[in-house]
Order: sequence, then C-alpha cells, then structure tokens
Amino acid sequence: MQYISTRDSSLRYSAAQAIVQGLSRDGGLFLPETIPALTAEDLQSMVGMTYQQRAVKVMKAYLDEFTEEELAEYAAKAYAVPGKFDDAAVTPIHSTHHKTHFLELWHGPTCAFKDMALQMLPYLLTASLRKTGEEKTACILVATSGDTGKAALEGFRDVDGTRIMVFYPKDGVSEIQQLQMVTQEGSNVDVCAVVGNFDDAQTGVKTIFSDEALRAELAGRGYFLSSANSINWGRVLPQIVYYVATYAELVKRGDIQMGDQINFCVPTGNFGNILAGYYAKRMGVPIDKLLCASNANNVLTDFIRTGIYDRNRPFHTTISPSMDILISSNLERLLYLLSGSDAEVRGYMEQLNKTGRYEVSKDMLEKIQDNFLCGFCDDERTTNAIGKVFSHGKYLMDTHTAVAYTVMMDHRAATGDATPTVVVSTASPFKFCDSVLTALGVQDQRGGVEILDQLAEVSGKAAPAPLAGLKGKARRFNQVVEKQQMADVVREALV
Ligand SMILES: *Cc1c(COP(=O)(O)O)cnc(C)c1O
Repeated sequence: MQYISTRDSSLRYSAAQAIVQGLSRDGGLFLPETIPALTAEDLQSMVGMTYQQRAVKVMKAYLDEFTEEELAEYAAKAYAVPGKFDDAAVTPIHSTHHKTHFLELWHGPTCAFKDMALQMLPYLLTASLRKTGEEKTACILVATSGDTGKAALEGFRDVDGTRIMVFYPKDGVSEIQQLQMVTQEGSNVDVCAVVGNFDDAQTGVKTIFSDEALRAELAGRGYFLSSANSINWGRVLPQIVYYVATYAELVKRGDIQMGDQINFCVPTGNFGNILAGYYAKRMGVPIDKLLCASNANNVLTDFIRTGIYDRNRPFHTTISPSMDILISSNLERLLYLLSGSDAEVRGYMEQLNKTGRYEVSKDMLEKIQDNFLCGFCDDERTTNAIGKVFSHGKYLMDTHTAVAYTVMMDHRAATGDATPTVVVSTASPFKFCDSVLTALGVQDQRGGVEILDQLAEVSGKAAPAPLAGLKGKARRFNQVVEKQQMADVVREALV
C-alpha cells in the first residue's frame, strides 16, 4: 500500500517512508492511498483473538512492507510485557448500562490514552528506519504540555537505536506530570524544563528542527532528528486497532450481535483519536455515528454544525487540559478523505494560515454530518457529571471522559437515539486528582503526591501503580534552560 500527502497526491511513499518523515515536505499529512476493507468474516475471526492479535490483523492491512511476525513482535513488546498494562485485556470495557460502555484506554504505563500509540510507535519507527536504509540513531525531540512527553519517554525508553529528549514548560505542567517526567528511568532519555510556556518549548523544538547546521553536525556524530508528534501516521494507526477490537469484544461479550451498529463518543483535541474511529468505520466496522466531544474550546462543535472552522476566538484553560486546542491538526486528514482533492485541502489550509478561518463546501459539510455528531461541555457540567456518575454506580471518570459522557447524554436526550454507545475514556481519574476530588465534593485537598492517597480514600479505588510509585522515586533531571539554550542541550547530550 502506498501513502500520499493531503496537499499533494501526485507522489507516492512507502509506509516506512511516511513514518520516518512524519510530516510531508509540502506541509501536508501522510495517509494511505486506499482504505483496506474488513469483511464480516474478518471481523468475526477477530472475536476470539487477544488484543495483540487484533492489532496485528488491523496494522498488517496498512503495512505491506512489514511481516506478520514483525508486527506480532511489536504488539507483544508494546502491550503484553508484564507490568506495562495493568489489565490483560489491554483496553478493558466497563459497562454502566447495557447500552453504555466505557472503553478504558488508560491502563498503560502513563495512565493516559497516548500510551496506546506511543508504546507501538518506537517499534514502527525503528523498523522503518532500517527499511529505508537509515543507519543513524534516531533522536526524538518532544515539546510537551503534559501527557505526550511522559508517554513518549515511556515508549522510547531503552529502545535500541533511539534517544529521546523531552522539553516541558517549567510552570506549564501539573506537579504530578512534572514528577512523572523528572523521575523517568531509562538509559537513552533526557528531560529538561524550559523557562516559559508550552509555546516557548514548542518554538524551541521547531527552531532546532529547522537548524540545518545543527542537523549536519549531529549527522556527523551519527544522529538523526525525528519527532513523535501526533500527526505521524505511526501514531494514528495503532489507534484504529482499539475501535475494531472493541467491536469484536462487544460481540464476544454478547452485548451486541455481529452487524449491529454502535456509536463512539470521543473527547477530542487534535482530532487524532476520533479520526482513527472514522478509519475503522471506513474499513467496514458497523459504526453509525462518531460523536465529537469538546470542552469550552468548542471550535470543532461549531465546525461540524456550520462548516466554518474559525480559530479566532478566546482560548480557555479548562479542567480537561489535553483538549485545550484551537487547531486540530488531524482534521486535515478527514478533509482529504471526504473530498479526495489535494487542491481543495491546500486551499482550506492556506486560508487557515492566512486568516485563521475557512469554510468547507456544502457537499463536504453534508458528508461530515453524515458521519459525525458533535457537542461540547463546560467545566461546571463536567464536574457535575463526575459527581453524578460516581454517586449512581461508583464509576469514577476523569475530566476528559466526563466531557464525552455529558455530550453523549445530551445527544440521547435531544434525539432519543438508542444505539449502543462506547464512551472513549482517555485518562485515569488519578491523573487529575484535584478536579476529580472537587467533583466529589472535597474542598480541602492535600498537596503533592499525597493527593493520590486522598482520592483513593474518598473513592475507594486504588491509584494506578505507575502514579502511586512516584512517591519514593528519585528525581533524575533538574536542568532548567532558556529557550535559546535548547539547541545547546541537544548538542551536549548527543556526543
Ligand atoms: C490527547 C488527549 C485527548 C485528545 O485526543 P486527540 O487525539 O488529540 O483528539 C483527550 N484526552 C486525553 C486525556 C488526552 O491525553
């Protein structure tokens, strides 16, 4: 299968090239030229499989140059090594009602859904480097506002042929998130704080990527700079797996019959997660609607309702920070999938660059609304939902999951839609202890890691081991630099 760019479909790339390059030189995103089909028999055959086997089946359909043996090895390393995921099902489903299912994507090493892709990406990337003849060590540079940095560190730690360096804004991440990063183990990892906010860290990383002299210097020492950004196809692909796997699992459990339609409701930021759900639908999984749930940063809600994407609006800092985004990069792939026209996508993206706004064609808007529903939820309703769901059945949601749950309930109330719905749960509630405790009515909160114990006591749930284990861990990384010094940090680390 060949890959093309959303902004120029005349050139063909192999999957390995697309994964190694990350972003196309024309600024577009890579996607497969065609979407492989899963027949009803294929889906049926997956009912009896483990998560790892399902992953091999789905990923193989997109990766011609990889053998099933290779993919099976990666799936085992990513999802089945003892201690990595704390549930043998990898992505367990918790049902609060016979038509309401929570797909828990946070049982991995960093307790957020980014692990699903970032546990797999290092193997896809290192194999792709080999397949494209690249012999240098890949140095992954990441600027993070929280979840991605830690998930990338865990994914790449001690993976042969890689180094990873994460830059985070000194005052822009939570105490738990910072602790998770500065205590990171592994022989190929580096973590550094940057004075400033996320934009400063991100600008610093972009400057390093565009510094040709530095790249040449590092190449001379055997290093190649790469990124683990969410626009890499190697991050979207592993996410398609859990949509397909969840369908097979619901059939296996008898919650649905093969062929029944289901909905997914996805807490959305960069549009990567929900895009993977759309791929699963296009492959043939009986998915009726994909509900795109936003917080107060509801640029996508407006877009799906009106066809107008307009980022010229106030930015809200919310209690679901991983969805505080005004430009959802992966939306570009959807625009290409629905129009099939690189010229049309180029036009929209040029307008977005120039004016921060574009309006899609009427035809495109109809296609979007055929597949996607949307809604948003502010902090107050998010908080209420956490309290309500916990008091009804003792199910504890994090803030992002609660946004999706609320949007699903709004949709049901407005339409009477009785389709079984899977709420995609993207983080452990223990990652956002303060907001969750507030939702449970606890005002007087403990500081530091003690807050984990407090939430455990109040909720009667145990904190996930990777978070509970932060307590006794030594800080390994204390460096703080100005953004102008970031290139020097890279230079000094890669000797
Ligand atoms: C990244 C993230 C999201 C948003 O996912 P996208 O793929 O960017 O839409 C939602 N919830 C959590 C907890 C996340 O870490």
